[in-house]
Amino acid sequence: MPISKISPYDVIVIGAGVNGCCSAYTLHSAGLRVALIDQDGIASGGSGAAGAFISPKISKAGELKEIMTEAHAEALAFYTTHFPQFTLVKPLLHIANSPKEGEKVESFKHETHIKHSNIPHAIQTLLSDEAKNASSIYFDMGAVVDAQGVCNAMAEGVDFYPLKVEQLLHAGGCWHVGELRAKNLVLSIGAYPKLLPIDYVGLRGIWGHRIDIETSTHIPCILHHHVSISPTTKEGIVAIGATHDVHYSPFSGEAYDIEQGRNILLEKASMTLKLNNINILKDYMGLRSGSNDYLPMLGNLVDAEATLEKYPHMQHGKAVDSSEYIYYPNLTMINASGGYGFVLAPYLAKRLKEFIIGAKALDPILSPSRFFPRWAKRKSFQS
Ligand SMILES: Cc1cc2nc3c(=O)[nH]c(=O)nc-3n(C[C@H](O)[C@H](O)[C@H](O)COP(=O)(O)OP(=O)(O)OC[C@H]3O[C@@H](n4cnc5c(N)ncnc54)[C@H](O)[C@@H]3O)c2cc1C
Repeated sequence: MPISKISPYDVIVIGAGVNGCCSAYTLHSAGLRVALIDQDGIASGGSGAAGAFISPKISKAGELKEIMTEAHAEALAFYTTHFPQFTLVKPLLHIANSPKEGEKVESFKHETHIKHSNIPHAIQTLLSDEAKNASSIYFDMGAVVDAQGVCNAMAEGVDFYPLKVEQLLHAGGCWHVGELRAKNLVLSIGAYPKLLPIDYVGLRGIWGHRIDIETSTHIPCILHHHVSISPTTKEGIVAIGATHDVHYSPFSGEAYDIEQGRNILLEKASMTLKLNNINILKDYMGLRSGSNDYLPMLGNLVDAEATLEKYPHMQHGKAVDSSEYIYYPNLTMINASGGYGFVLAPYLAKRLKEFIIGAKALDPILSPSRFFPRWAKRKSFQS
């Protein structure tokens, strides 16, 4: 291997979406030498397309709700403290888009400690009958960030390398990526092809389209209903988004129908309120990356081949404690934030920092290895 002239980093982060940028920012702020890599530039993937609402997840009690509640509070504090210039704070009205969601909203309303109140009359009068009659919750404080602005700001001061990573190599106690090397590697590549043989990590890419528009209708708060309609950090610009398309993939080679996407967005927006004199300014599209259990992923990656070689009986369903699996050394994955990447990123990055610097254990619930035993067992049926 040629000797690199670039002195070693403490951490290489691959993928400069919100997860990579926020991790790089947090680790760099803690004094580590960080290299951030992306094939297409900062916030060029799902993150650059995001509406980037910092909204609570309306979900039933359970692990996901607990994590999302904590992440939401941490994200509001993080963006308003460190990046106020990219953060617009506004009340947030969440309206159920179906009777089933209405039940969730009602039970969330009774359980949540997040401050909420009655919908002001001025907002009521804007709403369609459908929106008025649906269950809803009006939070006194919501926020929306400028996705590309905040990612770029987080990456400032961090060494950035525009590079498509094809291969990862671990040798001599270091990860080697091109000419770069570091003890620690963070893999935050969203819904893009995995760089390692980690088929057990079940990720789904969910395509989304959103638009920025001008309208003569004044939007006084953030509205979430069939789609979100919201003022943005850019004066006079209203964001509408986003679609959720599980069938389309940009990796299929098929062309995406932008006109159709725009029509869907405008039609859905019209179910909440009437927008007058619309002028579409810009389209944003990208892939969210989600897990099968809706929880994000933050943790080390199991070396599947080495682990199955050591514990072949896992293929017959024999339980092995996850601490016994063989993991890729000093490699942490952050992924599967679904539609909540901007909400989750500060939460995940903080715990990543505590793990790398403070050796504080990561939450096993978030470990990508949670999918490994089932995958190993299924594998034996396939072979
Ligand atoms: C339309 C839309 C609206 C959304 N709205 C919201 C919202 O309101 N609120 C919210 O919190 N979240 C929202 N999200 C979700 C959020 O954007 C995602 O959860 C978030 O972008 C995930 O970030 P990430 O860093 O994990 O992945 P990405 O942003 O996809 O970043 C991965 C990066 O890795 C790079 N990469 C991949 N492979 C390689 C390689 N081999 N070499 C080098 N670089 C590589 C890619 O170029 C990419 O830049 C939305 C998403 C979409 C698409």
